[in-house]
Amino acid sequence: MAERIDVLQELGLTPVWRLRARYRSDIAPIAPHVVKESSPTVPRSDPAKQSPPVAPQADAGNRATRIAMLDWAHFSADVSACTACGLARTRNLAVPGVGDVHADWLFVGEAPGAEEDAKGEPFVGQAGRLLDSMLAALGMNRTKAVYIANVLKCRPPNNRTPTPAEVESCLPYLHRQIALIQPKLIVALGKSAATTLLKAEASIASLRGRVHRYQGIPMIVTYHPAYLLRTLPDKAKAWEDLCLARATLLGILNAGVLQSAERDPT
Ligand code: URA
Repeated sequence: MAERIDVLQELGLTPVWRLRARYRSDIAPIAPHVVKESSPTVPRSDPAKQSPPVAPQADAGNRATRIAMLDWAHFSADVSACTACGLARTRNLAVPGVGDVHADWLFVGEAPGAEEDAKGEPFVGQAGRLLDSMLAALGMNRTKAVYIANVLKCRPPNNRTPTPAEVESCLPYLHRQIALIQPKLIVALGKSAATTLLKAEASIASLRGRVHRYQGIPMIVTYHPAYLLRTLPDKAKAWEDLCLARATLLGILNAGVLQSAERDPT
């Protein structure tokens, strides 16, 4: 793995980066016990290429119920066969998600771009390389203790903003991923992920710097890596957000250790 200084250089945080006092206790790498077993790789086939027309709206309830019962063995194939919205007609590959299915960390972006659509894996383009650097700065990578998903599993043509209807029809998949993974922490990358999960319209600036909850799971909101590539000064703010995320997770893990020590003092 790259040296931490190399990673911070990549993030544009050298030579002057200092952890703020309130995060200073968090700089230790994530404890090895956090790392869980590694995940199966995401299938990249796309059976939907020859699939029937878009499902009627009336089936939405049944569909959501069916998706809510999917297991990992069937999840990726189901996403790849999905025709619930028009993006099924223009995608190359569906992009279900990647990473450790028992991860403590879940990163959620907006939607696949061209490179993700070609490869069937989230965040593999330029923004993805920055996300990888951010993970490396935290002592992690996309195969270990981390799962990466998007709100939308298929690429909107020309990377346009997803429509509310597309978000609505794809959301059962993200909800199911969260229910299966049961992450200890969610990091929402950008406004689309944040406002979708929080079900509230707000700016990233107003959502940063505090711990939100998605169905009881702590959630940190930060800038989307694609935005950070265009707005270099905000990389330092994103790093603050990741430090807050790490501090939050360490707090949860430490509380768990204390509780089990109290239950079993021997
Ligand atoms: N942007 C996203 O939000 N997700 C990806 O997978 C790639 C770029």
